[in-house]
Amino acid sequence: MKIAIVGAGIAGLAAAWELVQKGHTVTLYEAADYAGGLAAGFRDSHWDWHLERYYHHLFETDTAIKQLVEQIGAGDKLFFTSPTTAHYWNGGLYGIDSPTRILQFPGIPFADRLRFGLAVGYLKYLTNDWPSLERTTAVAWAQRWIGSPAYTTILQPLLEGKFGPYTSEVNMAWLWARFKARSFKLGYFKGGFQAFIDALVQTLQQRGVQLRLSSPVRGIARAVYTDAGNQPTWMIQSASGCDYYDAVIVTSSPHLLAKLVPQLPDAYTARLRQLKSLGAVVLVLALKRRLTNNLYWIQGMRKEEFPFLALVEHTNFMPPEHYGGDHLVYCGDYLPPDHAYFQYSLDQLLDVFLPHLTTFNPDFTPAWVRTAWLNRAPYAQPVVGLNHSQFIPPLATPLPGLFWASMSQVYPWDRGTNFAVELGQKVATEAHRYAPAG
Ligand SMILES: Cc1cc2nc3c(=O)[nH]c(=O)nc-3n(C[C@H](O)[C@H](O)[C@H](O)COP(=O)(O)OP(=O)(O)OC[C@H]3O[C@@H](n4cnc5c(N)ncnc54)[C@H](O)[C@@H]3O)c2cc1C
Repeated sequence: MKIAIVGAGIAGLAAAWELVQKGHTVTLYEAADYAGGLAAGFRDSHWDWHLERYYHHLFETDTAIKQLVEQIGAGDKLFFTSPTTAHYWNGGLYGIDSPTRILQFPGIPFADRLRFGLAVGYLKYLTNDWPSLERTTAVAWAQRWIGSPAYTTILQPLLEGKFGPYTSEVNMAWLWARFKARSFKLGYFKGGFQAFIDALVQTLQQRGVQLRLSSPVRGIARAVYTDAGNQPTWMIQSASGCDYYDAVIVTSSPHLLAKLVPQLPDAYTARLRQLKSLGAVVLVLALKRRLTNNLYWIQGMRKEEFPFLALVEHTNFMPPEHYGGDHLVYCGDYLPPDHAYFQYSLDQLLDVFLPHLTTFNPDFTPAWVRTAWLNRAPYAQPVVGLNHSQFIPPLATPLPGLFWASMSQVYPWDRGTNFAVELGQKVATEAHRYAPAG
């Protein structure tokens, strides 16, 4: 079949890899002038490695992406290391990433530390029953089983930071999946995630996949056009005109799918529009000096006190030598796409964010900032409410030959590049099984 994939993020690239191996002719349309979507990187002129626009690492449990990396011969690029993470509490920073550290955390009474540790142990090692857990909210479950002190001090800032206005809706299966799938060792690629993406793109192109960058798709329709003897059924409209395909896979947000394909039945588009998500606003700072004392990841900041959810000092994960000596720090937050930060200029956001960095290093001054970049994505984090599994649309849409594979369908796991690979593989399998009428 001739198959078009809309979006050259990790899901689109992984789907293309599966399909081309099965003998299909694949064209990828990508709106941006680079492949890789949310996982893509950029490189300042004096850096050796690319840096992700949005902070990224892998977990040891990320088997689908690890296998893909091996398949394309990029296994030597991936490695795992153990950076330090910390929880911000009451003006101080505390490690809570191991049982011993949890037991030493002074923010909650000792009995609650034990209770927290036991609950996390239960979720991580003793239960896989996420279908029961999705029937209750994370807030209700945590308050009941982990207890109010640990919920308020440890989990509430994480949930509110990630889901803001939707915090009370998020189901417990999401929190279970977070504990279940995470490892202490974190993975990264020599050269950044972009090195993996480049290797994947190169492999695809060698197999004949066409990658059209800077080609936003403007419309998708069941074609009225028919070419005798050869029956294309789908039309893709982009800046370069109209092209015809047997099947189409869209990897964008539910809202964009609804917009791109007006022929979708109303009941189905209503279902798409009910899926909630948040966007991401991430400031990347190149500093002249190290900000924190060897901490990679700092979480736990409260919305009332801080304008960002996470502070990630990437160069405490990967050495600054790969980045011309720059110390690279992300300040990131998940927000509704109509939040004012989506309109702010870089300078306006610097004015809001920078004063808070003295919390992490009292010597910090804005003069440490060599340069900064601002990245924003309106669709970055799906919100998973009660019984979410019942609301996820299948990969095959009601229109034959049109498939949709997006972060909103990744569940119960939290979306991530590993699950984008898995999703790409699944949608490719469905598209492969599809045989156009006639
Ligand atoms: C702040 C942040 C931190 C993250 N941290 C991690 C992490 O540490 N580890 C991890 O594994 N994952 C992480 N993720 C998640 C990971 O980036 C995503 O799950 C994954 O990249 C999603 O891939 P995708 O292909 O499904 O979607 P996307 O990457 O969104 O790809 C969709 C593609 O479609 C393109 N597109 C959109 N509209 C059109 C159109 N009309 N025509 C053509 N193309 C179009 C877009 O430009 C994009 O390239 C993070 C994400 C964010 C936002």
